[in-house]
Amino acid sequence: MVKQTIQIYGRIKPTKKNTTVYSVDNEEQTGAFLEFLVPRDLADGFVNNKRECYKFRFLKVFDQAVEQEEVFENIAKPVADSVLAGYNGTIFAYGQTGSGKTFTITGGAEHYSDRGIIPRTLSYLYERFSQDSSMVYTTHISYLEIYNEMGYDLLDSRHEASRLEDLPKVLIMEDPDQNIHLRNLSLQQSANEEEALNLLFLGDTNRMIAETPMNQASTRSHCIFTMHLCRREPGSATLRRSKLHLVDLAGSDRVSKTGLSGQLLTEAKYINLSLHYLEQVIIALSEKNRSHIPYRNSMLTSVLRDSLGGNCMTTMIATMAVDRRNLDESISTCRFAQRVALIKNEAILNEELDPALLIARLKREIQSLKEELAMLTGEQRDGQLTVEEIQRLEELVKAFLDDPDPDVMLSLGPDMRKIQFCFSLLKMMIMDKQRGGNPNADGKASPTAAEREDSQQSAAEVTKLKEMMTHRDNEISILVKMLKKEKKRAQDAVAQIANTVNGQRTASQDASGLSTMPLLREGSPDSISTGHRGRAIKHMKRVKALSR
Ligand code: ADP
Ligand code: MG
Repeated sequence: MVKQTIQIYGRIKPTKKNTTVYSVDNEEQTGAFLEFLVPRDLADGFVNNKRECYKFRFLKVFDQAVEQEEVFENIAKPVADSVLAGYNGTIFAYGQTGSGKTFTITGGAEHYSDRGIIPRTLSYLYERFSQDSSMVYTTHISYLEIYNEMGYDLLDSRHEASRLEDLPKVLIMEDPDQNIHLRNLSLQQSANEEEALNLLFLGDTNRMIAETPMNQASTRSHCIFTMHLCRREPGSATLRRSKLHLVDLAGSDRVSKTGLSGQLLTEAKYINLSLHYLEQVIIALSEKNRSHIPYRNSMLTSVLRDSLGGNCMTTMIATMAVDRRNLDESISTCRFAQRVALIKNEAILNEELDPALLIARLKREIQSLKEELAMLTGEQRDGQLTVEEIQRLEELVKAFLDDPDPDVMLSLGPDMRKIQFCFSLLKMMIMDKQRGGNPNADGKASPTAAEREDSQQSAAEVTKLKEMMTHRDNEISILVKMLKKEKKRAQDAVAQIANTVNGQRTASQDASGLSTMPLLREGSPDSISTGHRGRAIKHMKRVKALSR
């Protein structure tokens, strides 16, 4: 982004008449000064030799003798260079009627050396295009005249305009983003300097023919010659668009001319209403903290919105006639210029991606990749899979899934379309299966992921518990068997003892000996198992704890 105030230059028209006392000082390092010395009012009847001095600062002041070439070099060339780089540029001439605006912007017709800023800039730009073969430049030209708040297309070649009103009317439109569009203003492509000059002549011819003494078009209308430039590198999708407005404003003449007396140097009213609006915009822009800038009040300020306080590098050339009777106008012009000099613009590089170019580039890329692929695979692959191919893939996937061999392979070859098709087929099958096995398949909302996880967890726990139960049951039955064996051995032992004792005492006396065998009194194996199950589980727990 380039932040820059509007650049102000002054130009004084040559005159042979008595001039007012003025001086030009271009030597200052900080800029130039134009000074007017005004004699005081002589109304009181006595001579007052004191003079009032009005001093105005410019970037440079071109005095009467300065040639068109020098003006172009100083003013237009830097703007043309920034337009070439991709910034918007505007040069506008402001001054009273007859002060040399048209001469400066378009030029004089008599001598080739009188060519003004427009033809010289065209010539310069086309020369630069031809020197730079690394870029492709395209240029379009439009030429708009604004008279009485109405726009006219000066480049209309179909009409034999005899009046301004015969020219196509240009309307101003604003889109939702507040961008200005000029409807009906033709944009003519110009491939070279000659074509561009022809367009300039066509416009100027229309401008002259349409002028009548009644409408005084040349003094009351504004003419905006615009060059639309597009620059891009061959093969690149980014391009830079810039606009160069070369503006010849209506005469800044004021209503009340009070001569060199009384309220001489106070501000008078513009004859041209749209210049009044232009000044309103400039005052608003030069004041700090003004949020509303009244661009919309006139067509001129709407069209020049970017040039005034926006995305543009703008230069103003204040043209002045220095004969005595024009002194007040010249001072008004200088005052206007001082206000304009306060306006800050912020020019940005207008770089953009051209979607059409981008699409074309991507298409080319796809084509070359296809060719590369065909070369590598030996197969031409175009677009979608055929019905036969899809059927074949379905069969392959089915065979793959049905095969119990875990090492089975699904060979599809190096074709991403087939690979992707098979993946989506598998995904669909899995989803179908999930839907089929789900109790919610009857239309109820399917369980959430969290619910599914919960139920999977509890199912795993149940399985684990069931396994533990089986283990325990096995352990218990082993223990029960052991106990049964012990019981049998005990019974056998008791029977043996009984037999032995029977020989010595009676069987009834010795029945109390059973008290030493509490286990045997606990009854059947089933009733035994309750106590033993508890102990067996404890035992197993201990074993497990030890084995961990
Ligand atoms: P404006 O457009 O401001 O009304 P013009 O550019 O038509 O004024 O100038 C009025 C007359 O003065 C024209 O005949 C023009 O050729 C002549 N003129 C203006 N400036 C110069 C100049 N710097 N050198 C020679 N002639 C000039
Ligand atoms: Mg003019």
